[in-house]
Amino acid sequence: MTFMQVPLERIVAGEGPKDAKIAIVGEAPGAEEDKVGRPFVGRAGTVLDQCLHSAGLTRSDVYLTNLVKTRPPKNNIDPWVSKSGLTEKGKAAARELWDELRDTEANVIVTLGNSPMLALTGQGGITKYRGSVLHALPESGIGTKIIPAIHPAAALRGQYLYRYYIVADLKKAKRHSHIREFPTPPRLVVDMTFQEAIAWFKYFSERGDFSVDIEVVNHELACISFCQENDLSVSIPFFNAAENKEGENNWNLRQEMFLYQELEKLLARTDVVKIFQNGGFDMTFLAMRNGIITAKPYDDTMIMQSLMYPDFPKGLDFITSMYTDMPYYKDDGKDWRAPKSHRKFREYNANDGIATYLSYKILKQDIANDGYQEIYDFTIRLLEPLIYMMVRGIKADHIKLGEARGLAETQITEKMVELTKRCGRELNPNSPKDCQNYFYIEKNIPPYTKSARQTNGEYVSKVTTDDKAMQRLAKGTATRPGLPEARLVQEVRALRKLKGTYLDISFDTDQRMRCSYNPRGTKFGRLSSSKNVFGNGTNMQNLPAPFKKFLVADEGCMFVELDKAQAEWVVVAYLSGDANMIKVCEEGLDPHSYTGHLMTGIPDKLIIKDNNLIGHLSDAREITAIREGGAFLPEEKLIFDQARFVPRSMSIRQCGKKANHGLNYDEGYKTFALMNEMSDGEAKIICRDYKTVVYPGVKHWHQYTQEQLGKERVLYNFFGRKQRFLEGWSEQLFKSAYSFIPQSTVSDLLNRGIIKTYEDRHPCMESVEILAQDHDSILLQVPTRNFMNIAAAVHRVKDHLDPEMEYHGRKFHIRTDMKIGLDWGSMEVVEFDTLEELTALKIETTYNQLTK
Ligand code: URA
Repeated sequence: MTFMQVPLERIVAGEGPKDAKIAIVGEAPGAEEDKVGRPFVGRAGTVLDQCLHSAGLTRSDVYLTNLVKTRPPKNNIDPWVSKSGLTEKGKAAARELWDELRDTEANVIVTLGNSPMLALTGQGGITKYRGSVLHALPESGIGTKIIPAIHPAAALRGQYLYRYYIVADLKKAKRHSHIREFPTPPRLVVDMTFQEAIAWFKYFSERGDFSVDIEVVNHELACISFCQENDLSVSIPFFNAAENKEGENNWNLRQEMFLYQELEKLLARTDVVKIFQNGGFDMTFLAMRNGIITAKPYDDTMIMQSLMYPDFPKGLDFITSMYTDMPYYKDDGKDWRAPKSHRKFREYNANDGIATYLSYKILKQDIANDGYQEIYDFTIRLLEPLIYMMVRGIKADHIKLGEARGLAETQITEKMVELTKRCGRELNPNSPKDCQNYFYIEKNIPPYTKSARQTNGEYVSKVTTDDKAMQRLAKGTATRPGLPEARLVQEVRALRKLKGTYLDISFDTDQRMRCSYNPRGTKFGRLSSSKNVFGNGTNMQNLPAPFKKFLVADEGCMFVELDKAQAEWVVVAYLSGDANMIKVCEEGLDPHSYTGHLMTGIPDKLIIKDNNLIGHLSDAREITAIREGGAFLPEEKLIFDQARFVPRSMSIRQCGKKANHGLNYDEGYKTFALMNEMSDGEAKIICRDYKTVVYPGVKHWHQYTQEQLGKERVLYNFFGRKQRFLEGWSEQLFKSAYSFIPQSTVSDLLNRGIIKTYEDRHPCMESVEILAQDHDSILLQVPTRNFMNIAAAVHRVKDHLDPEMEYHGRKFHIRTDMKIGLDWGSMEVVEFDTLEELTALKIETTYNQLTK
């Protein structure tokens, strides 16, 4: 190459008024900027323009520049910014940038992405620090406020929601651009004598609404913060219990008891609002560990945020970045275990207090102004019954559990011995690699494969030794016998899973089974559950039946489970107005058989026979053998032959069931095939027919939902729950929108039922306890001494769970089914009667059978 051919580096200089009050700094020019010679004129620039516009700003309001002024070769910034920080080249660019920015009149500098934030503040970690109001490095000579924001290019890389964060940060910059001064940091009181601690309790007991936040160390209260004004937050240490003695400020156990009493009095106040961030944790912990009950009223910023912005994070760090000017502080208390850091830990706790308080002031207004008040009040009301369930727990039968554990261990050992014998070597059933080696290489069996979805949405075929493959290997084919070792692999895997996930669960000291319910566990209002505040128990929603057997009713009591049968499907029926679906609901038909019937054209009687013969079989060859064998009469076989479509790998009813469960929300046929282990061809027919031939109303409802969504990106469910949909306009967004109304309506129905049941003061409800919520059902415990009383109570609860619903003038109910039992794994169905006396009789008869 001759000298003349070396391309000249094009300098893309900063542009815009030097007297602008906001400066924005990007990373480096890209191809488009290099061509035009101006910053942010490519795709990222378009996103930036849109965000500026949404924040009420235009390009002429800002001075716009980059850290690096020439396009990096291959757009690679590494020569300037390496993993360990700025390189020498980067430092030189930073110094030039400092000079350039000192020459502007900006009151705020917005840095876009990591590199310019690093160059101006020395700080990395853009997703944590975005939205913070930071100081520039002293050596930069820049006294201006720095507000980092995410780079607009990141919003183009599949993170559509980043646009909202950028807008929020630009709005903050706009607010700060009017003054040069930094916000005054609040006063954090974290050191005190015993007398001062008492005085602080008195202080908060005489004032208005306050935020509360606890920190827990080793399952003990370590400190608690209170804040009720903009510039003061107090963290009161609880040294003794948390064993974090630190000399000077310490007090003795008797004094600490006194502080607990003060705390109890403060939280018992009913004249002020106690403001929490995730109060379910704090209140449950204080109730269980310290016997301290927090009285209503209380509010919760986490619930507020997640109701209004279900797509955004709901942690306090994110909330702080959105609603306050506080810099990111969440890493500060991290090393609290080191004795010297206790003070820092309390500063962190006090910061949490003030962040919660400041955010609350804005969120409270927004909840009221944006139409979320009713749903928020309902969610807050739900907290008390949830806390009750979390504190109460369920009795576990540890003798049977121990026996099951022992049995599982013995069975695993025995099966492993047999496996080794059969394989002629040790084989690890949980190692896919080892299983592949054994079955596909040593045994030379052609590998089974399954298609797996890649992150780019494409499907690829992969060799598998999953459960289905083991099942096939165990069964054998026409050309090779079945392999008993494959069956052993399956059995050991299942036993290990049962043991590891359930039989080895840790319990609280009273040996009861508990979990933590999160009222905002999922986007659409369904509860989620996990280990409890002490790290014991597990997710109690969807426990397998064999494990539920170990959860038993307390002495002299029994369980009653009330279940909202096929509730989501019923909601879709009325939402879509589909005549066939409504017929199923109104005539009390079995929806799965009926869907199977509509799909195949085969009459109901034959579908029942097919189901009885095939049950849950999934092997196409086995199923064909049954259908072609002697079980069906020649005329019945003829009907099968003439049917529009007959599923080959399952019964017709099972096919109807899978379609009913999966296809109302427009699942793609490939996913449907994968989830239901069927061929793509079969899945394609089922998916197409479901919404064209079988339930055409579903398709219209999907179209209607898209139209509604297009208007203001908001949908409402049957209870008026408002839901924003902020993700990019895509198939994924639509699918999420279709599932919103049915899913959230059912969880609202159930949770409203829980609240009404919990708050029902009728005498027959006195000893009725709600113990668990399992997505579509609630578990009650009642004493068995009076069956008339039980019947009266369950009829009341049924009423609470069965409100009349209405959609487009059509009124409907969603049926509630009842089961009773002494352990949660063996519950027996009991039909409701219109007369309470008869229901009582049925319950008593079933109970007597159970206890025989
Ligand atoms: N990205 C940047 O960081 N700067 C530009 O000018 C364009 C894209």
